[in-house]
Amino acid sequence: MTGAALDAHIVVRRHGFDLDARIAAVPGEVVAVMGPSGAGKSTLLTAIAGLTRLDGGAVRLGESVVADAATGVHVPPDRRGVVLLGQDPRLFPHLSARENVAFGPRAKGVDKAIARRDADEWLARVGLDGAGTRHPDRLSGGQQQRVALARALAADPRVLLLDEPLTSLDVETAADVRALLRAQLDAARATAVVVSHDATDASALAARLVVVEGGRIAQEGAVDDVLGAPATRFIAAVAAAHRFGGTP
Ligand code: ADP
Repeated sequence: MTGAALDAHIVVRRHGFDLDARIAAVPGEVVAVMGPSGAGKSTLLTAIAGLTRLDGGAVRLGESVVADAATGVHVPPDRRGVVLLGQDPRLFPHLSARENVAFGPRAKGVDKAIARRDADEWLARVGLDGAGTRHPDRLSGGQQQRVALARALAADPRVLLLDEPLTSLDVETAADVRALLRAQLDAARATAVVVSHDATDASALAARLVVVEGGRIAQEGAVDDVLGAPATRFIAAVAAAHRFGGTP
């Protein structure tokens, strides 16, 4: 796809499981991915990130081919310009919040003072003004996830991959972090793929929804269109739960 920030055809074969799915995003687009447990959602993200090797297909980020099963191209994860943020914030425990956020820019050669100043600005944007010197063990789960989000955005990724980023948070904190995520994805004009089991996340964060079931795309389209005309029992259950304000 010309002009796409992400254009991926992911084929991964495992014993008893095979994933064959295409996913694309234009610059600044947030795409939600939903599907039952074991459908292949995480594998889709780890393949884009380069943590899982392709058995077929290819991954294009902007103009660069970062993986191609036909030619054997496999750019390592740390050279793809992609950040994968999961349920677990995975902060460096020995670094302060500020140093965690500054880590990516510092690794790219940004001057120490500038990286620290930018890190403080990112922490303020995620509602953690003044928490820069605290280490992860002095932060709550929600605060740690905010630092992880600030770190992910500070790295200015070509594509941000979010795997159930709100699942480990309590309902109230999840609502706060969801709103923050929405605002910061907008402000950064980030291209993102967000996996969630919750239609609230899909409709709050994304315009487009891709449903993966059994390693295949079962349905895709505008979030409201998919939820309004579900093609499978799974998405019908998700849509019903969403209408009644719960999760399936
Ligand atoms: P989802 O994220 O939709 O729950 P996953 O992508 O995690 O699904 O898993 C898809 C399938 O691949 C499942 O059958 C799962 O058991 C299997 N799987 C996931 N990770 C691995 C792995 N590292 N090695 C082997 N099988 C795996």
